Order: sequence, then structure tokens, then C-alpha cells
Amino acid sequence: MKPQGYPRVEINLGHLRGNVEYVVGKCREKGIEVAGVIKGTTGIPMCTKQFADGGVSYIASSRLEQIEDAKAFGIEKPFMLIRIPMLSEVEEVIRLTNLSLNSEVEVLKALNEEAGKQKKLHKVILMADLGDLREGFWDKDEMVKVGEMVENEMDNIELAGVGTNLGCYGSILATKEKLDELVVIAEEIEAKIGRTLEYISGGATSSFMRVLDGDIPERVNFLRIGEAILLARDLEVFYGYDMSEMNQDVYTLKAEVIEVKNKPSHPVGEISVDAFGHTPEYVDRGMRKRALLAVGKVDYGDTADIFPKEKGIEILGASSDHTILDIEDYDGDIKLGDIISFGIDYASVVYITNCRNVQIVFVS
Ligand SMILES: *Cc1c(COP(=O)(O)O)cnc(C)c1O
Repeated sequence: MKPQGYPRVEINLGHLRGNVEYVVGKCREKGIEVAGVIKGTTGIPMCTKQFADGGVSYIASSRLEQIEDAKAFGIEKPFMLIRIPMLSEVEEVIRLTNLSLNSEVEVLKALNEEAGKQKKLHKVILMADLGDLREGFWDKDEMVKVGEMVENEMDNIELAGVGTNLGCYGSILATKEKLDELVVIAEEIEAKIGRTLEYISGGATSSFMRVLDGDIPERVNFLRIGEAILLARDLEVFYGYDMSEMNQDVYTLKAEVIEVKNKPSHPVGEISVDAFGHTPEYVDRGMRKRALLAVGKVDYGDTADIFPKEKGIEILGASSDHTILDIEDYDGDIKLGDIISFGIDYASVVYITNCRNVQIVFVS
């Protein structure tokens, strides 16, 4: 393998660290702790280290392998599993993490039993589904009962609090009203168990908007944040927030030009289907200058998720291992062997950092 080859993703660790500190600082002003969610960058340990050094309370992932990698790398922080545990991984959940998000009594019982075996106290947060319709209790009376059961009958797990997730499946906005609903559930459980819960975990990056707007309910004191730290992009692109105080250039994809030629813009011959069985629209703009890159959909997923950094470069399309650029309007000369840079969004960072064809290079 070429150690410094292309395609590559350059990861600016200093900028990542800056974003961690920014988000942690903003949340701290509101009395909110942050779990740094590392799954978007595939748990690359050098990235996880920036989260840890930047002051998060927990390192969180949906995948236990990533937590195992962080531990093997020597990162010492409390760890948290944010995907509801599989029954089949309960032993590892207790071994590797200090806290998990839960929605099934059967899993809680298994966690309690396993924590007893490993002589550990494991914390749990019960998840409420407030309408986004992914994980969590729908029946809130059941949720309160399960909370009481954890408190009174399960000695090896500790009810740390309640949480919710919004804007993942059902596209539901993390409004103040939604988060107030979570606080009501927390207070019902508190009334039953006669103590204050440690955490009310009001969501992910989409709830960070409430921090920026200053209208997050007072009792929400824990968020689990990935995208806003890794890319700081979604809140600007989808909700119009000014994220200019953050670094939006932590991840850069770079690929090499393998062909430069003038070609027609409309395919020549009988149109059928492309490499993926689709027939895109091809606009006839006459002869155009184009460049072919040695990077493709297997590396980054979808061309809609990567963005040429320079003006006058347009992505026309891609197949598994090739990306086709229109460079007719580029002000300058692009030659064979040149390197083209792209910004990338969350959907693509997940692929790019997980792809053995793409070299990972740290810059700072
Ligand atoms: C992925 C995930 C997060 C982090 O989401 P971001 O939008 O990247 O901040 C938080 N909580 C849960 C349960 C998740 O699955």
C-alpha cells in the first residue's frame, strides 16, 4: 500500500479539537455536559483523542468496536453506547462502557445480571420516543414503571436518567416543547423514586440549536453531539445558523486526475442504464473540457455529498471507482496527475473514513 497515496482524506486534528472545545464551552454555559459522538468519523482513535482532550464528559458511539479501539489507544474517559444494545452484546456492553441508552426491559435485566457477574455498576438512560419513531418507549406509563423497576429491583445498574432522540427517522425538530415533554417524564419518574435523576439527555446536534438560541429547557443537562463537532455543517445548511465561529474544514477529500479531455456532454449512442441500473438526465451543452478522477462511489457514497473546493469545477457523475468533472469553466489549468480537493458532508465522512481504499492523513 502507498503510505501517502490518493485518494486520501486529510483530517485537521487542531480544527477538530477547536470544534470540540467550542461545543463543550457553549453547552457548559448552559450547565450541559456533552457526550462526544465518534461514530461519524468511524471512531478513528486520533479523532477520538481530540474529543477526549477537548473536554467531553463521555466518549459515545453506536459501535462497541470503536469504543474498544479508543480504549486500546489509551483514551481514559467514561464510555457510552448510544445504539440500543443488542441482547447478544450485553457482556461487551458491560465490559467496555459505563453508560448505555435503553428501551427494552429484557435488555435491562440482562445488563443487570451481567453487571453483577462482572462486579460493575453500569449506568442506564431510558429513552423516550417523542415522535421521531426510531428508538425509545412509546408508552410513557410503561417507561415510568420500568424506571421504577430499575431503581428498586436492579441492583447492578443505576438509573442515570432519561433521554430522547429527534431528527433521525421522523425528521422531527428538537423544539423547546418536545424537550419539555422529556422533562415532564423525568419529573414523573423522580416523583416515583423520590430522588433527582442525574441526566436528562435532550438529543443530538439538532438539539444544539436550542443551546445556540438559549431556549433549551433548564433541566436538560446532557447532549450527545457528533455532526456539529465533526463538520459544523448541518445547522448552517438545513437551519440557517451562522457556524462561522467553528471549523467547517476538518475533513478534506483529495483525489488524483487520471484523464483530461474535451468530450461531448451528451452520451453518444442508444441511452439505456448506467452502472447502477439508473438513467440520469444528460444535458447537452456541446463539447466541454472534463477531468476524470481516481475516486468513486465506493469511496464516498453519493456525489451529492462531496463538494469541489474550487470554483468552476462541477461533478457530472460517478461510477464505483471514477468521478467525472466538468472543468470547462475552471479559471486555470487542470492537468493529468493534479490533485482535486473536496469538502464532504456527514453521509460521506462515514464512508470515506471507513474505506480501505482511502488513505487517512492527519494534518494540524
Ligand atoms: C448518532 C447519534 C447521536 C449523535 O448525532 P449527531 O447528529 O451526529 O450529533 C446522538 N444520539 C444518538 C442516539 C445517536 O444515534
